[in-house]
Amino acid sequence: MSELYDVMILGGGPAGLTAGLYAGRSRLKTLLIEKGAPGGQIALSADVENYPGQLLEGETGVSLAGRMAEQCARFGVERRTDEIRQAELKGGVKRLVGGGGEYLARTIIIASGASPRPIGCENEKEFTGRGISYCATCDGAFFRGLEVYVAGGGDSAVEEALFLTRFARKVTIIHRRDALRAAKSIQERAFANPKIAFLWDSVVVRADGDDVLSALTVKNVKTGALTEIRASREDGMLGLFGFVGHLPSTELFREQLPLENGYILTDEDMRTAIPGVFAAGDVRVKSLRQVVTAAADGAIAAVQAERYLAEQ
Ligand SMILES: Cc1cc2nc3c(=O)[nH]c(=O)nc-3n(C[C@H](O)[C@H](O)[C@H](O)COP(=O)(O)OP(=O)(O)OC[C@H]3O[C@@H](n4cnc5c(N)ncnc54)[C@H](O)[C@@H]3O)c2cc1C
Repeated sequence: MSELYDVMILGGGPAGLTAGLYAGRSRLKTLLIEKGAPGGQIALSADVENYPGQLLEGETGVSLAGRMAEQCARFGVERRTDEIRQAELKGGVKRLVGGGGEYLARTIIIASGASPRPIGCENEKEFTGRGISYCATCDGAFFRGLEVYVAGGGDSAVEEALFLTRFARKVTIIHRRDALRAAKSIQERAFANPKIAFLWDSVVVRADGDDVLSALTVKNVKTGALTEIRASREDGMLGLFGFVGHLPSTELFREQLPLENGYILTDEDMRTAIPGVFAAGDVRVKSLRQVVTAAADGAIAAVQAERYLAEQ
């Protein structure tokens, strides 16, 4: 029989790590399951400057997440690296099953977050890892001295475009509208950066190349005109980074929990429709998906899990 935990947390992003911190401090027997490195999406960010109290020069998502994970471990939270493929949420004991076996707990906090939404162009899969990327921190350095294109117009797209100017010769932001959605302060930095150019009212419709990405076809959404962008002969390749939103990681729960556009519905105490099951962070229906709101959700979920256990 597998060990029975008080709280089981699915996901080691900011929501899961904060839930772990609070559950651990409450001396609940807590297990956190994460399929990759700690940090979730924020580990993809090269620059974090809007987490309160965080004023370290050069703070990256990885460094911030690393400290969160250390703080969580300090309070005795156990951690397993595993990808969960099955979940049974009903009843007094919740069950998750991954490649490493089954995990049981009296409560579960779902903090499985989201993953980058594909750009939506032809041949996207073929060129992922061969010119197309969704993580500037991970892959930016491969494009040193080359031309790079960024699809998107929100905070992440513009922040990551700014980061990519450290490596790329030129960074062009391709945005489907004629104005950015990013916060004004981020926009100002982008407009002032001589290495950044903009392609407005446009979307990438096709990626091409032999072995690596060397051409993009871009469509003007207002006129329908198609333009082909080719890497110069000397460069031989170009980069395309996608920051066009996210897809919630909720496939496991589709049949068990009410969802809205794929996101889990909760009340403001992070309770889902099933007693003892809580959801926190980007995975749930909410208006702002950021580290600060994910951390806040994680804290609330852990406190509510503790109350639920006390009432049982
Ligand atoms: C490029 C980029 C830049 C960003 N910049 C900022 C910023 O500057 N400031 C800011 O506040 N926010 C930023 N964000 C948003 C922020 O990263 C997210 O809001 C935050 O990470 C959400 O945390 P979370 O814990 O809810 O989910 P996530 O960070 O998505 O973490 C979920 C975790 O669950 C794990 N998981 C999912 N399914 C399973 C499974 N089946 N089995 C095991 N593990 C699983 C995943 O591996 C992941 O680690 C950025 C996001 C991106 C993509």
